[in-house]
Amino acid sequence: MALTRRSFLKILAAGTAVMAGPPAGNRLLRRLRLRPAGGGLPALAASREPAGPIVRLFGLPAGDGDPTLAYAAEPNTRTGPGEAGRRWVMVIDLARCDGCRECTRACTAMHFVPSGQEWIRVYEMRDHATGNAYWLPRPCMQCDNPPCVKVCPVSASWKREDGIVMQDTSRCIGCRFCIAACPYQARGFNWVQPPESEEQRRQPYDMEWNTRHFKGTTEKCIFCPGLVKEGRLPACVSACPMGALYFGDQAEDAVTNSQGETVRFSQLVQENAGYRFLEELGTEPRVYYLPPRKPLYPPPPSEQEPAALGGGHR
Ligand code: SF4
Ligand code: SF4
Repeated sequence: MALTRRSFLKILAAGTAVMAGPPAGNRLLRRLRLRPAGGGLPALAASREPAGPIVRLFGLPAGDGDPTLAYAAEPNTRTGPGEAGRRWVMVIDLARCDGCRECTRACTAMHFVPSGQEWIRVYEMRDHATGNAYWLPRPCMQCDNPPCVKVCPVSASWKREDGIVMQDTSRCIGCRFCIAACPYQARGFNWVQPPESEEQRRQPYDMEWNTRHFKGTTEKCIFCPGLVKEGRLPACVSACPMGALYFGDQAEDAVTNSQGETVRFSQLVQENAGYRFLEELGTEPRVYYLPPRKPLYPPPPSEQEPAALGGGHR
């Protein structure tokens, strides 16, 4: 039976288990809630038709409808659908970001993010047309069509109705398919057990805060659902001294920044030519960017005069 390319990675998870041998394969199939047909395991074979399906799967349990649905991730309802009627959204004004990285520091402190796994990173970018440098903070885009969720074979990531893409680290089996699928490089992987403070150890495992971190698992920004539930802004948003980050509810058409400025989301995006990063991929990101048309900050050091860098004119 034919499978779409999109289904390939899900099926590859089962195929990997099959190649690992029947006992391991059976264990994963049980975890995926699949039954081997006729007591045997499904077999995976590469297709030789370049324009056709890239894999064929034999021996799937017979059933009605799309056979690939057997491999679809189950929704994880352990944190519920999120805030009823809300559609959380973030707007990042690149004309205001001065690259101070207070957002990264605040996020890291709030979630005890291990060193090297920062959930929001600030990149130095260069405008293609003008060559001008600017700063670009990059959290998880909380995609409405999230590739990372689709490839996870154990539903360790899922999309809540309020727009947040959640991450249950206790479910993650470390296959890293989500890392490969994310076009924004928003996910990290703990190759070793990150050091834990006494304060962290005392905290219960809570997916709305994700302050515990484990070896062999992936992690990412989760839009601070714990803070948002309390009516507060995400840590990165409230820490930004420039008011460059706005957060709010798209359903209410209102976003707020650290300066207490609350503005209409639609107006902010429309009037400032807002765009979404790599939106041509169809991921439907929930993070919008406003281009750095009239920067309110000094350019990054590489753009400054040599004297400003501590050097001198000859
Ligand atoms: S940005 Fe990456 S990790 Fe975040 S929801 Fe989109 S695909 Fe998933
Ligand atoms: S929204 Fe929360 S988790 Fe995401 S980058 Fe900001 S502080 Fe970190």
